[in-house]
Amino acid sequence: MANVVIVGAGIAGLSAGIYALKSGFDVTICESHIGPGGNCTSWRRKGYLFEGGMHWLNGSGDEKTLNRLWREVGAINDATRIIYTDPFLVCDNGGPRISLYRDIKKLEAHLYERSPEDTAAIRELCRDLRRFARMIIPIMDIPRLKVKGKKPLRPGDLVRMIPALSRMAPLISVTAENYAGRFKNPVLRLLLSNVVGPGYDAMSLFFILGCYVSGDGGYIEGGSLAMAGNMENRFTGLGGKIRYGSRVDRVLVSGGKAVGVSVRGETIPADAVIVTADTLAAADTLFDKPLGEPWVAAMRRDTDLTMNSFLCYGFEADLSELPESAIFPLDRPFEHAGMTIKSLGFRNYARYPGYAPAGCSAVTVTLSKGDTYAYWKRAKENGEYEARKRELSDAVLDRLEEKYPVLKGKAAVRDTATPLTYERYCGTYHGSWMTRTAPGQRRAAYPCKVKGMNNVYFAGQRIMPPGGMPPALLSGRTAAQHLCRDFGMVFVSP
Ligand SMILES: Cc1cc2nc3c(=O)[nH]c(=O)nc-3n(C[C@H](O)[C@H](O)[C@H](O)COP(=O)(O)OP(=O)(O)OC[C@H]3O[C@@H](n4cnc5c(N)ncnc54)[C@H](O)[C@@H]3O)c2cc1C
Repeated sequence: MANVVIVGAGIAGLSAGIYALKSGFDVTICESHIGPGGNCTSWRRKGYLFEGGMHWLNGSGDEKTLNRLWREVGAINDATRIIYTDPFLVCDNGGPRISLYRDIKKLEAHLYERSPEDTAAIRELCRDLRRFARMIIPIMDIPRLKVKGKKPLRPGDLVRMIPALSRMAPLISVTAENYAGRFKNPVLRLLLSNVVGPGYDAMSLFFILGCYVSGDGGYIEGGSLAMAGNMENRFTGLGGKIRYGSRVDRVLVSGGKAVGVSVRGETIPADAVIVTADTLAAADTLFDKPLGEPWVAAMRRDTDLTMNSFLCYGFEADLSELPESAIFPLDRPFEHAGMTIKSLGFRNYARYPGYAPAGCSAVTVTLSKGDTYAYWKRAKENGEYEARKRELSDAVLDRLEEKYPVLKGKAAVRDTATPLTYERYCGTYHGSWMTRTAPGQRRAAYPCKVKGMNNVYFAGQRIMPPGGMPPALLSGRTAAQHLCRDFGMVFVSP
């Protein structure tokens, strides 16, 4: 039985490992961290659970093509409770709130009522949302591969997607902010500008909104920890081995072939290696010299990094009356890393059992504006890192308390992650966990192999821009398919 070593136990690594095991390989994952999940992570602090990864999962819905794959890798099973927050985003500007509902009829009526001055633009928005709600992610197999459990695309699925496909070109060419600019109502503008991160194209906005209104995009109860744990169980249940605390220093190559990996001087032999650590970082550091392959050079050139600072608060207050996911404009904008922060978005887990001690609530704020890696790196080098983190946490808390006086003096627990935190824990390039698809930015997947090393495969969110958990899953599956084809094995995907 051929023996495969996988670098990384994130979603891509676990997916690749599960499919490789099912297809008859012996698999060991080397993971530098102490547990599974990579960027799909949540953590506990003093009785609070802070969700630091999954916020919405494409493929949570039973009807979706991806759902079958999430079930195959064990992320979802019949006992999994999936939470569909509704409304999924609210703009709480102090006046009448505008909410994004999952039910398209309810959403349309609500938007007309809140913003009659935008009737024509709302009609167009909802027409396009109905189109995007019919989008599916096709599950493709690589050519010349024997597959057990094939999932051919139904012709009807393609036909249903045509109306959305015809809208892609105009939506790809503008940013979500520009698209939102066509609405006269400033609250609606703010709301639509903040569904995706700054700079993303409008197609990403429609892709996400379409996912929500189609009944997909749920949150798995227990969050990232539960989901990664489910996948780890599936992997080990199939006989896979995981070595935690095992950072791979080098993929060992001899005669144009990988022969294993090195972990703190120990050689772990392998017939094939699948690298699921962030491709940008891995290509620079895991081989004797940085990989010069043209597609890797294109990835270095074209990747527009998505990163964030992530602020967690444990409030000794029951916040179940506050919205679950909201954005609000700031009366007092503040400066951070050379940028002016004019609005804040938060997630409130008060209604989630087990996320906080009784009567308390876990709240998180994601600040994803700009590339702040150099700012935090400099702060670290100058010995100001902790002070800068505290300053940011104070500024955000101050604005939250000002907006919701019930929070005043109630923050019992605080935790702040920066891009340096993600870099340290997940080894991601500059702490980035997705690729921003700005207008004109590349969307096609990169190849998963490099010339001259036939038994090394790359998977992970970076391989399939814009990234996220579905591309991690799909790229892991594709890497396992290449492995099967190269070793003359049948790919098993029932
Ligand atoms: C705040 C936040 C919110 C997000 N929200 C969503 C969301 O709502 N929906 C969504 O789909 N996605 C979301 N994402 C993105 C998603 O979590 C990631 O894109 C996805 O989990 C990436 O998976 P991966 O397996 O490709 O890579 P990673 O998660 O980076 O996994 C790589 C693994 O490799 C390990 N590793 C790295 N280097 C080495 C080495 N040398 N040796 C051994 N191990 C190594 C790392 O420790 C890590 O475990 C979010 C991410 C964040 C941070």
